[in-house]
Parts: sequence; C-alpha cells; structure tokens
Amino acid sequence: MDVQIASELSPDLIESRPARLDNLARLDRRLAWVVTCAPAVGFGVAMLLLLCGYPVGAVEIGLWLGMHILILIGVEVGFHRHFAHRSFNLRRPVRVALAILGSMAFQGPVIWWAATHRRHHNYSDKPGDPHSPHLHGEGPQRLMRGLFHAHMGWLFVPESTRAVGWDRYAHDLYRDKAVFKVHTLYFYWLLLGFVIPAILGGILTRTWMGAFLGFLWGGLVRIFMMNHVFYWCINSVTHTFGTRPFVSNDQSTNNIWLAIPTLGQSWHNNHHAFPSSAMMGLRWWEVDIGGWVVRALERLNLAWDVKTPSQAMMRRLRRN
Ligand SMILES: [Zn+2]
Ligand SMILES: [Zn+2]
Repeated sequence: MDVQIASELSPDLIESRPARLDNLARLDRRLAWVVTCAPAVGFGVAMLLLLCGYPVGAVEIGLWLGMHILILIGVEVGFHRHFAHRSFNLRRPVRVALAILGSMAFQGPVIWWAATHRRHHNYSDKPGDPHSPHLHGEGPQRLMRGLFHAHMGWLFVPESTRAVGWDRYAHDLYRDKAVFKVHTLYFYWLLLGFVIPAILGGILTRTWMGAFLGFLWGGLVRIFMMNHVFYWCINSVTHTFGTRPFVSNDQSTNNIWLAIPTLGQSWHNNHHAFPSSAMMGLRWWEVDIGGWVVRALERLNLAWDVKTPSQAMMRRLRRN
C-alpha cells in the first residue's frame, strides 16, 4: 500500500530534512530525565494532595480519563498502526489530528516515534533493537536490568534514541508536509496537552486551584499512568511475560491484563506475527479497542485499505 502523500516538497527541502529531524530527535539525558521523572513527581504531588484532604472530584477524573483516552488513540491508532505500520489509510484531517493527539503523550515527536518503532520491528530482540529486554545477558538480575532498559532506561541511551541514520526508517513521513509540520511543532503540542486540561479545570470549577488540579490530573497524572504504568509495558512486559500463540522472529508475547489500557497493543505476539495488520486482537475474545476505533473510522469513510491477516496466514503461523 502506498503511503498517502498529498503534497510533496521540493527535493532541496527534502534533503535538508534529516538534519532538522536529527535536531528534534535529540532525546538526550536531560530530556530523558524530564520525560521519566516529571510525570512521576506530578503523580506523587497528586497523591500527597489527596492525603492532605484536597478532594478529587468528577472534573479531575473526567479530565484525566478524557485526555487519556483521546491521546492514547493518537498514540496507538495514529502513531503506531497508521504512521509506523501503514496498516490503513486515513483522510488527511484525521491523519493530522491523530498526529497532534499522539504528540501530547510525552513519547516523542511523530516521525521519530514511527522511525524508532520501525527499527524495533526490524531488529526485534536482536542487537539494533532500541528497547529489547533480552540483550543484557542471562539470569534474573540481568533480566531485571533488561526489563528496566526496555521500560524506560533506553531513553537514556543515545544509540537507542538517535542511532545514526534513524531517519531512513521514515522517509515516507518526512516527505509529507503536514506530518513534518506537526513533527517540528512537537513542543507546542506537548504544552497544549497541559494547557487544555488546566483551562478546562479552571473554567469548570472557576478557581485557580481547579486549573492547577486540571493541569496535574489531565497532564502529569495522565502521562504517568499512560506511559509508566501501562504503555511502556509493551516494550518490557510483552516481550517477556505471557503467551506466544504465533511463531514470530522475536520473544513477543500476548498479555491479557494490558489489553484494555493499551487499546489492544498488548496482543503483542499477534502484532509481531502480523505487523501490518490494523487489528491486534485476532480471536473474538481478544479485546482490541484500537481495532474498534479503526473499524469505526472505516464505517465513517475516514479510513480505508484496512489490512488484516487471512485465515490461511494465521493457520500457517499458529503454534497450536
Ligand atoms: Zn515489540
Ligand atoms: Zn508495531
């Protein structure tokens, strides 16, 4: 399937893009500290306020869950299934909207995210994989080190976050004018992910404290729960613990407990067996909310060319 490219830029501008993308891809150690620690500190402050008797009501919970669901759709349906795997095509406004939503997740800009993920699939659990838990040797202690590396430690390793030539994994994306624009404005989208819940919290409660709690719950708590607790488990837990119903060239696993909070990404062995499938849940009971979103977009004529594996393909790779 060809990637949708509405308007291509001049060859000169395309030439200059990898260098500009490299600048944005510099998730150096300082940024890694912010990405990993700021949400954890925010979560700690939120818990402290709760203990001190600051009531958390429907506004804070609503802002947290509302932002969480929309932004997770941006990451899982947009960044992952559409941009990284091209498992379906999207109308341009939806494509751009999902790129913006995913950018608010504190997981890096869209083109860098997609390129890093494509590298992960290219070298899955082998040298070159940016975040495999299995490259630190044998034994429980080394496995723990590997799990930490896969979960968040890799963000501190320059060879993982900005390997030489990383941009070659995303030529199709950096040629797309609108996607490239979203990518370069990354820090504004990040900011928007805090400003929106803060403004809504302030308006709904008509207090400054409401605005602060909106920022805290819709911003930092949301990021902590989404990344630290759930989504980053895809790199660590679902490459280590769980079942492997399909033959795949790595150690990916299916994990039922993470299926809902990751919108279906935790059917990760299914995904590695059929990486270009828009559906992660391949059996009727494998809850795949991201897949339902893709089907809904398809029904609304906003998505098309939705790829799924045939029964014959699944039979060929099924272990039992
Ligand atoms: Zn994986
Ligand atoms: Zn993937």
